[in-house]
Amino acid sequence: MKNYNSSVKRVLVTGGSGFLGSHLCQALLDKGHEVLCVDNFYTGRRSNIADMLFNPRFEVLRHDVCFPLYVEVDEIYNLACPASPVHYQFDPVQTTKTSVHGAINMLGLAKRLHIKILQASTSEVYGDPAIHPQVESYWGNVNPIGIRSCYDEGKRCAETLFFDYYRQHSLQIKIARIFNTYGPKMYPNDGRVVSNFIMQALKNEDITIFGKGDQTRSFCYVGDLIRGLIALMESDDDLTGPVNLGNPKENTILELAKEIIRLTNSKSKIIYKPLPQDDPCRRQPCLDLAKKELGFEPTVPLEQGLTKTIQYFQEFIKENQQEN
Ligand code: NAD
Ligand code: UDP
Repeated sequence: MKNYNSSVKRVLVTGGSGFLGSHLCQALLDKGHEVLCVDNFYTGRRSNIADMLFNPRFEVLRHDVCFPLYVEVDEIYNLACPASPVHYQFDPVQTTKTSVHGAINMLGLAKRLHIKILQASTSEVYGDPAIHPQVESYWGNVNPIGIRSCYDEGKRCAETLFFDYYRQHSLQIKIARIFNTYGPKMYPNDGRVVSNFIMQALKNEDITIFGKGDQTRSFCYVGDLIRGLIALMESDDDLTGPVNLGNPKENTILELAKEIIRLTNSKSKIIYKPLPQDDPCRRQPCLDLAKKELGFEPTVPLEQGLTKTIQYFQEFIKENQQEN
Protein backbone atom coordinates (compact mmCIF):
# COMPACT_ATOMS: atom_id res chain seq x y z
CA MET A 1 0.00 0.00 0.00
CA LYS A 2 1.63 3.26 -1.13
CA ASN A 3 1.21 6.60 0.56
CA TYR A 4 -1.17 9.18 -0.96
CA ASN A 5 1.72 11.54 -1.78
CA SER A 6 4.76 9.74 -3.18
CA SER A 7 7.24 12.39 -2.02
CA VAL A 8 5.93 12.11 1.55
CA LYS A 9 6.90 8.76 3.03
CA ARG A 10 5.91 6.90 6.15
CA VAL A 11 9.27 6.08 7.64
CA LEU A 12 9.92 3.58 10.41
CA VAL A 13 12.90 4.38 12.65
CA THR A 14 13.76 1.61 15.11
CA GLY A 15 15.73 2.90 18.08
CA GLY A 16 14.08 6.26 17.35
CA SER A 17 14.27 7.59 20.92
CA GLY A 18 18.02 7.01 21.20
CA PHE A 19 20.80 9.48 20.48
CA LEU A 20 21.07 9.07 16.69
CA GLY A 21 17.48 7.87 16.24
CA SER A 22 15.94 11.01 17.74
CA HIS A 23 18.05 13.28 15.50
CA LEU A 24 17.09 11.14 12.50
CA CYS A 25 13.35 11.32 13.37
CA GLN A 26 13.58 15.12 13.59
CA ALA A 27 15.45 15.39 10.28
CA LEU A 28 12.85 13.18 8.54
CA LEU A 29 9.99 15.26 9.97
CA ASP A 30 11.79 18.40 8.75
CA LYS A 31 11.80 16.88 5.25
CA GLY A 32 8.01 16.51 5.46
CA HIS A 33 7.85 12.74 6.08
CA GLU A 34 5.68 10.86 8.56
CA VAL A 35 7.72 9.06 11.19
CA LEU A 36 6.96 5.96 13.23
CA CYS A 37 9.46 5.70 16.08
CA VAL A 38 9.72 2.17 17.48
CA ASP A 39 11.72 1.75 20.68
CA ASN A 40 11.72 -0.35 23.85
CA PHE A 41 13.41 2.51 25.79
CA TYR A 42 16.32 0.30 26.82
CA THR A 43 18.77 3.19 26.38
CA GLY A 44 16.48 5.67 24.66
CA ARG A 45 14.78 8.50 26.54
CA ARG A 46 11.40 10.14 26.23
CA SER A 47 13.06 13.53 26.65
CA ASN A 48 14.91 12.94 23.34
CA ILE A 49 11.62 12.83 21.44
CA ALA A 50 9.56 15.17 23.67
CA ASP A 51 9.63 18.01 21.11
CA MET A 52 8.19 15.74 18.41
CA LEU A 53 5.34 14.20 20.41
CA PHE A 54 2.89 16.94 19.46
CA ASN A 55 3.70 16.74 15.76
CA PRO A 56 0.76 15.00 14.03
CA ARG A 57 3.23 13.36 11.61
CA PHE A 58 5.10 11.69 14.49
CA GLU A 59 4.04 8.48 16.22
CA VAL A 60 5.81 6.40 18.85
CA LEU A 61 5.35 2.71 19.58
CA ARG A 62 6.95 0.90 22.52
CA HIS A 63 8.12 -2.37 21.05
CA ASP A 64 11.12 -4.70 21.28
CA VAL A 65 12.47 -5.48 17.79
CA CYS A 66 13.36 -9.00 18.96
CA PHE A 67 9.66 -9.68 18.31
CA PRO A 68 7.89 -9.43 14.94
CA LEU A 69 6.26 -6.13 14.05
CA TYR A 70 3.27 -5.65 11.75
CA VAL A 71 2.95 -2.08 10.52
CA GLU A 72 2.51 -0.38 7.13
CA VAL A 73 5.42 1.88 6.18
CA ASP A 74 7.38 2.92 3.08
CA GLU A 75 10.97 2.74 4.38
CA ILE A 76 12.86 1.40 7.40
CA TYR A 77 15.93 2.73 9.21
CA ASN A 78 17.05 -0.01 11.63
CA LEU A 79 18.94 1.67 14.48
CA ALA A 80 17.67 -0.30 17.49
CA CYS A 81 20.67 -1.49 19.53
CA PRO A 82 22.56 -0.07 22.50
CA ALA A 83 25.78 1.52 21.21
CA SER A 84 27.84 2.36 24.30
CA PRO A 85 30.16 -0.45 25.50
CA VAL A 86 28.84 -0.04 29.07
CA HIS A 87 25.25 -0.51 27.87
CA TYR A 88 25.79 -3.27 25.32
CA GLN A 89 27.94 -5.26 27.78
CA PHE A 90 25.33 -4.93 30.58
CA ASP A 91 23.14 -7.64 28.99
CA PRO A 92 25.25 -9.11 26.18
CA VAL A 93 22.77 -11.85 25.27
CA GLN A 94 20.07 -9.24 24.75
CA THR A 95 22.53 -7.20 22.63
CA THR A 96 23.12 -10.10 20.24
CA LYS A 97 19.39 -10.84 20.15
CA THR A 98 18.60 -7.21 19.33
CA SER A 99 21.09 -7.16 16.46
CA VAL A 100 20.27 -10.58 15.02
CA HIS A 101 16.57 -11.20 15.82
CA GLY A 102 15.95 -7.47 15.32
CA ALA A 103 17.51 -7.62 11.85
CA ILE A 104 15.52 -10.75 10.93
CA ASN A 105 12.25 -9.17 12.06
CA MET A 106 12.86 -5.85 10.31
CA LEU A 107 14.07 -7.59 7.13
CA GLY A 108 10.94 -9.75 7.23
CA LEU A 109 8.82 -6.63 7.49
CA ALA A 110 10.69 -5.01 4.57
CA LYS A 111 10.25 -8.19 2.51
CA ARG A 112 6.50 -8.34 3.13
CA LEU A 113 6.10 -4.69 2.17
CA HIS A 114 8.69 -4.71 -0.69
CA ILE A 115 10.41 -1.64 0.79
CA LYS A 116 13.93 -0.33 1.29
CA ILE A 117 15.71 -0.95 4.57
CA LEU A 118 18.84 0.70 5.97
CA GLN A 119 20.98 -0.90 8.64
CA ALA A 120 22.94 1.18 11.17
CA SER A 121 26.09 -0.91 11.21
CA THR A 122 29.33 0.15 12.79
CA SER A 123 33.08 0.59 12.48
CA GLU A 124 33.21 -2.15 15.14
CA VAL A 125 32.84 -4.69 12.32
CA TYR A 126 36.53 -3.88 11.62
CA GLY A 127 37.47 -4.83 15.21
CA ASP A 128 41.06 -3.87 16.07
CA PRO A 129 41.93 -3.04 12.46
CA ALA A 130 45.10 -4.11 10.70
CA ILE A 131 44.32 -1.73 7.80
CA HIS A 132 44.43 2.02 8.33
CA PRO A 133 42.34 4.02 7.50
CA GLN A 134 39.55 1.44 7.31
CA VAL A 135 38.14 0.76 3.85
CA GLU A 136 34.84 -1.04 3.25
CA SER A 137 36.61 -3.94 1.50
CA TYR A 138 38.53 -4.79 4.71
CA TRP A 139 37.02 -7.86 6.45
CA GLY A 140 38.13 -6.86 9.93
CA ASN A 141 39.95 -8.30 12.90
CA VAL A 142 37.30 -9.23 15.46
CA ASN A 143 37.57 -11.43 18.56
CA PRO A 144 34.48 -13.69 18.43
CA ILE A 145 34.54 -14.53 22.17
CA GLY A 146 35.48 -11.30 23.93
CA ILE A 147 33.45 -8.79 25.90
CA ARG A 148 32.84 -6.61 22.82
CA SER A 149 31.80 -9.57 20.65
CA CYS A 150 28.07 -9.42 21.47
CA TYR A 151 28.01 -6.05 19.71
CA ASP A 152 30.68 -6.56 17.03
CA GLU A 153 29.58 -10.05 15.97
CA GLY A 154 25.90 -9.15 16.33
CA LYS A 155 26.41 -6.29 13.89
CA ARG A 156 28.49 -8.49 11.55
CA CYS A 157 25.74 -11.13 11.54
CA ALA A 158 23.15 -8.43 10.82
CA GLU A 159 25.20 -7.36 7.77
CA THR A 160 25.26 -11.01 6.64
CA LEU A 161 21.48 -11.24 6.98
CA PHE A 162 21.02 -8.02 5.03
CA PHE A 163 23.12 -9.36 2.15
CA ASP A 164 21.36 -12.75 2.21
CA TYR A 165 17.95 -11.05 1.99
CA TYR A 166 19.37 -8.95 -0.87
CA ARG A 167 20.67 -12.01 -2.79
CA GLN A 168 17.90 -14.46 -1.87
CA HIS A 169 14.85 -12.16 -1.88
CA SER A 170 16.02 -9.21 -4.05
CA LEU A 171 15.39 -6.87 -1.14
CA GLN A 172 16.65 -3.29 -1.49
CA ILE A 173 19.21 -2.84 1.29
CA LYS A 174 21.54 -0.08 2.46
CA ILE A 175 24.29 -0.62 5.04
CA ALA A 176 25.97 2.31 6.78
CA ARG A 177 29.12 1.63 8.81
CA ILE A 178 28.97 4.43 11.34
CA PHE A 179 32.15 5.65 13.07
CA ASN A 180 32.16 7.30 16.54
CA THR A 181 29.49 9.98 16.52
CA TYR A 182 28.78 12.53 19.26
CA GLY A 183 26.53 15.50 19.95
CA PRO A 184 23.54 16.77 21.93
CA LYS A 185 21.06 14.12 23.18
CA MET A 186 23.83 11.63 24.02
CA TYR A 187 23.00 10.02 27.33
CA PRO A 188 25.24 11.80 29.89
CA ASN A 189 26.15 8.65 31.81
CA ASP A 190 26.34 6.19 28.95
CA GLY A 191 30.07 5.56 29.36
CA ARG A 192 31.12 6.72 25.89
CA VAL A 193 34.25 8.78 25.86
CA VAL A 194 32.83 12.14 24.73
CA SER A 195 29.94 12.14 27.22
CA ASN A 196 32.17 10.81 30.04
CA PHE A 197 34.88 13.41 29.54
CA ILE A 198 32.47 16.35 29.19
CA MET A 199 30.49 15.38 32.32
CA GLN A 200 33.71 14.86 34.27
CA ALA A 201 35.13 18.18 33.07
CA LEU A 202 31.96 20.15 33.85
CA LYS A 203 31.94 18.71 37.39
CA ASN A 204 35.71 19.27 37.80
CA GLU A 205 36.09 15.55 38.47
CA ASP A 206 39.07 13.47 37.34
CA ILE A 207 39.07 12.67 33.61
CA THR A 208 39.43 8.89 33.27
CA ILE A 209 41.65 7.84 30.39
CA PHE A 210 41.69 4.10 29.75
CA GLY A 211 45.17 2.91 28.82
CA LYS A 212 47.81 5.48 27.89
CA GLY A 213 45.43 7.60 25.84
CA ASP A 214 47.39 6.97 22.66
CA GLN A 215 44.55 4.95 21.09
CA THR A 216 42.75 6.95 18.41
CA ARG A 217 39.18 7.57 17.33
CA SER A 218 37.74 9.86 14.62
CA PHE A 219 34.76 11.79 15.94
CA CYS A 220 31.83 12.82 13.75
CA TYR A 221 29.26 15.45 14.73
CA VAL A 222 25.71 14.07 14.75
CA GLY A 223 24.34 16.55 12.17
CA ASP A 224 26.90 15.42 9.60
CA LEU A 225 26.18 11.76 10.27
CA ILE A 226 22.40 12.13 9.89
CA ARG A 227 22.89 13.86 6.51
CA GLY A 228 24.96 10.85 5.44
CA LEU A 229 22.35 8.31 6.57
CA ILE A 230 19.56 10.07 4.67
CA ALA A 231 21.74 10.48 1.57
CA LEU A 232 22.48 6.75 1.65
CA MET A 233 18.80 5.86 1.97
CA GLU A 234 17.98 8.17 -0.97
CA SER A 235 20.89 6.94 -3.13
CA ASP A 236 20.59 4.88 -6.34
CA ASP A 237 18.94 1.48 -5.86
CA ASP A 238 22.10 -0.41 -6.82
CA LEU A 239 24.12 1.13 -3.98
CA THR A 240 23.81 -1.41 -1.17
CA GLY A 241 26.90 -0.40 0.77
CA PRO A 242 28.48 -1.05 3.11
CA VAL A 243 29.44 2.61 3.12
CA ASN A 244 31.58 4.19 5.85
CA LEU A 245 30.08 7.32 7.44
CA GLY A 246 31.97 9.48 9.90
CA ASN A 247 34.66 12.13 10.10
CA PRO A 248 38.21 11.30 8.99
CA LYS A 249 39.94 13.64 11.49
CA GLU A 250 41.77 11.26 13.81
CA ASN A 251 42.55 12.18 17.44
CA THR A 252 44.18 10.36 20.32
CA ILE A 253 42.01 9.99 23.40
CA LEU A 254 44.55 12.10 25.32
CA GLU A 255 44.15 14.92 22.77
CA LEU A 256 40.36 14.68 23.17
CA ALA A 257 40.67 14.94 26.98
CA LYS A 258 42.90 18.02 26.73
CA GLU A 259 40.57 19.69 24.21
CA ILE A 260 37.53 19.13 26.44
CA ILE A 261 39.41 20.50 29.49
CA ARG A 262 40.34 23.59 27.43
CA LEU A 263 36.83 24.19 26.07
CA THR A 264 35.21 23.83 29.50
CA ASN A 265 37.92 25.76 31.42
CA SER A 266 37.86 22.79 33.76
CA LYS A 267 40.07 22.19 36.79
CA SER A 268 39.87 18.42 36.19
CA LYS A 269 43.04 16.33 36.35
CA ILE A 270 43.71 13.48 33.96
CA ILE A 271 44.01 10.04 35.58
CA TYR A 272 44.79 6.71 33.90
CA LYS A 273 42.82 3.46 34.29
CA PRO A 274 43.38 0.01 32.74
CA LEU A 275 42.48 -0.36 29.06
CA PRO A 276 39.38 -2.59 28.65
CA GLN A 277 39.80 -5.92 26.80
CA ASP A 278 39.88 -5.70 22.97
CA ASP A 279 39.75 -1.89 22.93
CA PRO A 280 40.72 -1.01 19.32
CA CYS A 281 44.06 0.88 18.99
CA ARG A 282 43.18 3.00 15.97
CA ARG A 283 40.10 3.97 14.07
CA GLN A 284 39.69 6.25 11.07
CA PRO A 285 37.20 5.93 8.21
CA CYS A 286 38.22 6.01 4.58
CA LEU A 287 35.40 8.13 3.13
CA ASP A 288 36.24 7.78 -0.57
CA LEU A 289 33.14 5.71 -1.31
CA ALA A 290 30.77 7.99 0.65
CA LYS A 291 32.27 11.01 -1.11
CA LYS A 292 32.02 9.48 -4.58
CA GLU A 293 28.56 7.90 -4.28
CA LEU A 294 26.81 10.28 -1.88
CA GLY A 295 28.82 13.50 -2.15
CA PHE A 296 29.22 13.06 1.61
CA GLU A 297 31.72 15.20 3.47
CA PRO A 298 31.50 16.12 7.15
CA THR A 299 31.52 19.88 7.75
CA VAL A 300 31.58 20.33 11.54
CA PRO A 301 35.08 20.53 13.07
CA LEU A 302 35.68 18.90 16.47
CA GLU A 303 35.95 22.19 18.39
CA GLN A 304 32.60 23.43 17.06
CA GLY A 305 30.81 20.12 17.65
CA LEU A 306 32.23 19.76 21.15
CA THR A 307 31.17 23.31 22.01
CA LYS A 308 27.55 22.52 21.08
CA THR A 309 27.69 19.23 22.99
CA ILE A 310 29.15 20.94 26.07
CA GLN A 311 26.29 23.47 26.00
CA TYR A 312 23.79 20.60 25.90
CA PHE A 313 25.36 18.90 28.93
CA GLN A 314 25.58 22.21 30.83
CA GLU A 315 21.82 22.64 30.37
CA PHE A 316 21.24 19.00 31.37
CA ILE A 317 23.16 19.50 34.63
CA LYS A 318 21.29 22.76 35.37
CA GLU A 319 17.87 21.16 34.76
CA ASN A 320 18.71 18.18 36.95
CA GLN A 321 19.93 20.42 39.79
CA GLN A 322 16.62 22.32 39.63
CA GLU A 323 14.65 19.07 39.79
CA ASN A 324 16.61 17.79 42.87
P1 NAD B 1 21.45 4.66 21.68
O1 NAD B 1 21.75 3.64 22.73
O2 NAD B 1 21.33 6.08 22.10
O3 NAD B 1 20.15 4.28 20.86
C1 NAD B 1 19.74 2.98 20.63
C2 NAD B 1 18.23 2.94 20.71
O4 NAD B 1 17.77 1.60 20.45
C3 NAD B 1 17.70 3.31 22.10
O5 NAD B 1 16.64 4.22 21.98
C4 NAD B 1 17.23 1.98 22.67
O6 NAD B 1 16.23 2.11 23.66
C5 NAD B 1 16.79 1.26 21.42
N1 NAD B 1 16.77 -0.20 21.55
C6 NAD B 1 17.74 -1.01 22.06
N2 NAD B 1 17.36 -2.29 22.00
C7 NAD B 1 16.12 -2.30 21.44
C8 NAD B 1 15.20 -3.33 21.14
N3 NAD B 1 15.47 -4.62 21.39
N4 NAD B 1 14.00 -3.00 20.58
C9 NAD B 1 13.70 -1.68 20.33
N5 NAD B 1 14.55 -0.66 20.61
C10 NAD B 1 15.74 -0.97 21.16
O7 NAD B 1 22.62 4.52 20.58
P2 NAD B 1 22.94 5.42 19.31
O8 NAD B 1 24.27 6.01 19.49
O9 NAD B 1 21.81 6.29 18.99
O10 NAD B 1 23.09 4.30 18.19
C11 NAD B 1 22.03 4.03 17.27
C12 NAD B 1 22.47 2.97 16.28
O11 NAD B 1 23.63 3.43 15.57
C13 NAD B 1 22.85 1.64 16.94
O12 NAD B 1 22.41 0.59 16.13
C14 NAD B 1 24.37 1.68 16.95
O13 NAD B 1 24.92 0.39 16.90
C15 NAD B 1 24.68 2.47 15.68
N6 NAD B 1 25.97 3.14 15.80
C16 NAD B 1 26.13 4.25 16.57
C17 NAD B 1 27.38 4.84 16.69
C18 NAD B 1 27.60 6.09 17.50
O14 NAD B 1 28.75 6.54 17.60
N7 NAD B 1 26.61 6.70 18.09
C19 NAD B 1 28.48 4.29 16.02
C20 NAD B 1 28.28 3.13 15.27
C21 NAD B 1 27.02 2.58 15.14
N1 UDP C 1 37.62 5.80 26.99
C1 UDP C 1 38.40 6.42 27.96
N2 UDP C 1 37.77 6.90 29.06
C2 UDP C 1 36.43 6.83 29.26
C3 UDP C 1 35.64 6.20 28.26
C4 UDP C 1 36.28 5.69 27.14
O1 UDP C 1 39.61 6.53 27.83
O2 UDP C 1 35.95 7.32 30.31
C5 UDP C 1 38.28 5.29 25.78
C6 UDP C 1 37.93 3.85 25.44
O3 UDP C 1 38.78 2.96 26.13
C7 UDP C 1 38.19 3.85 23.93
C8 UDP C 1 37.81 5.28 23.50
O4 UDP C 1 37.84 6.06 24.68
O5 UDP C 1 39.56 3.65 23.65
C9 UDP C 1 36.43 5.36 22.87
O6 UDP C 1 35.51 4.75 23.74
P1 UDP C 1 33.94 4.71 23.48
O7 UDP C 1 33.37 3.84 24.54
O8 UDP C 1 33.41 6.08 23.36
O9 UDP C 1 33.77 4.06 22.03
P2 UDP C 1 34.41 2.81 21.27
O10 UDP C 1 35.48 2.18 22.10
O11 UDP C 1 33.27 1.89 21.06
O12 UDP C 1 34.95 3.42 20.04
